[in-house]
Amino acid sequence: MANEANNPALPAGRFQEIISHCKEYGYIFQSSEIYDGLSAVYDYGQMGAQLKKNLRDYWWKSMTQIHDNIVGIDAAIFMHPTTWKASGHVDNFSDPMIDNKDSNKRYRVDHLIEGFAEEQLAMSKEELAKEVLASMDLLIAKDDFAGLKKLIEDNKIKCGISKTCNWTDVRQFNLMFSTQIGSLAEEADTIYLRPETAQGIFVNYLNVQKSGRLKLPFGIAQTGKAFRNEIVARQFIFRMREFEQMEMQFFIRPGTQMQWFNYWKEERKKWHESIGIPAEKLRYHDHVKLAHYADAALDIEFEFPFGWKELEGIHSRTDFDLKQHELFSKKKLQYFDNDLNEEGKPYGNYTPYVVETSVGLDRLFLTVISLAYKNESWKKEDGSDDSRVVLKIPPMLAPYKLAILPLLKKDGLPEIAKQIMDDCKADFYCFYEEKDSIGKRYRRMDAIGTPFCVTIDHQTKEDNTVTIRYRDSMTQERIAIADVKRLVMEKIAF
Ligand code: ATP
Repeated sequence: MANEANNPALPAGRFQEIISHCKEYGYIFQSSEIYDGLSAVYDYGQMGAQLKKNLRDYWWKSMTQIHDNIVGIDAAIFMHPTTWKASGHVDNFSDPMIDNKDSNKRYRVDHLIEGFAEEQLAMSKEELAKEVLASMDLLIAKDDFAGLKKLIEDNKIKCGISKTCNWTDVRQFNLMFSTQIGSLAEEADTIYLRPETAQGIFVNYLNVQKSGRLKLPFGIAQTGKAFRNEIVARQFIFRMREFEQMEMQFFIRPGTQMQWFNYWKEERKKWHESIGIPAEKLRYHDHVKLAHYADAALDIEFEFPFGWKELEGIHSRTDFDLKQHELFSKKKLQYFDNDLNEEGKPYGNYTPYVVETSVGLDRLFLTVISLAYKNESWKKEDGSDDSRVVLKIPPMLAPYKLAILPLLKKDGLPEIAKQIMDDCKADFYCFYEEKDSIGKRYRRMDAIGTPFCVTIDHQTKEDNTVTIRYRDSMTQERIAIADVKRLVMEKIAF
């Protein structure tokens, strides 16, 4: 049977294989590639767009359909510029950067130091790596920029291009993209491309609560594009300048935030496991430095091919955002808590607290693809070698669910195949293919991750059965045409 050359922790050197595979099979292309691309911006192709939609739909359903106290909205990307003043993004949404004076290359300080620590690890200098990272965490937590520069200089951390230690001071660099709204004639205003979807939820909190007659605790979910002018944009779709977030803000009574923080921490990890991510490839990472709005925060990290990195953030945002919007808009964004009276406490108007779950759709995509990608090889019965590249994407997420393959292009086999296609295509995505040998067609379906193939042959004409082939085990069995649709539907149910 097949030997999995690539287990989930794909060696970093083979990450490039996944990137090439994504391009070759229509999953992901570099943006505007014919003009040599745009750094850290990517387009999803015909396969990728469908996988991304399936992930988004599953998240949306899990949040808004399964939880009867969570509703979904779709706020605009452009927002009144004061939103970002109130949220703190204009003043605080920045990363410490440092420039090398010889190469003029700009680095995010944490990335520069992490890169140095990785090099030390590769040279088995574990103690030094740990020590440097621990010092960095402390200095970042204190916003000690002079200390960060000293750490870089003391360890003689060099620029990858000039190979010198000739550094500028450490400075803050705002990550928001700005543009102008309105024509010049009518005094154009600077506005920002949203760096997170969350603020669209906060400014709509009262609209949704009132129009939906929602009672605390309740959540508002949203998926959509976010934009950050990442300085060191790298690792394929892990860190992009335009990306998609799936966020949910859960509005709660003040004082209950740790209870809900722990609830969502568990819930979200379970959700990731429900899409086939092995529990041992996920871990929690508590934040050392809390963002200006949080009283507790952690990341759910996944072991990407290039190491453990953040996949999702869970933040207890207190009443910071709503209070700030009250302050800047001069509108009350409070909740009238009727239930308090029933509990024997006086009625109360208060600003709700919020626990946020925020996952990057592109990072989730990368997680699924890097787990799914396998390069398998095995010995055939006659002793010869065989191999394949397969995307073992969970059936419920795979772009195409069923390939329908007439063995020959004649003898009425395509007609039967098209009938099966007509019967199934309203319920799930089917791929019809009559070219090439059946072996080649199976390999192509493996490469794009289609979990089931049915082959129509001469026996089909006699007994109305087809061969179904399972992608993961490569086993085959004969089943009645009448059972095909039900079988696939059972396996792909959300
Ligand atoms: P990082 O520390 O990796 O920069 P972050 O802590 O700034 O991430 P959050 O602001 O918590 O990220 O955003 C929530 C989620 O959005 C992240 O967990 C991640 O999945 C996703 N995300 C953030 N920035 C990017 C990006 N540049 N490209 C792709 N996804 C991103």
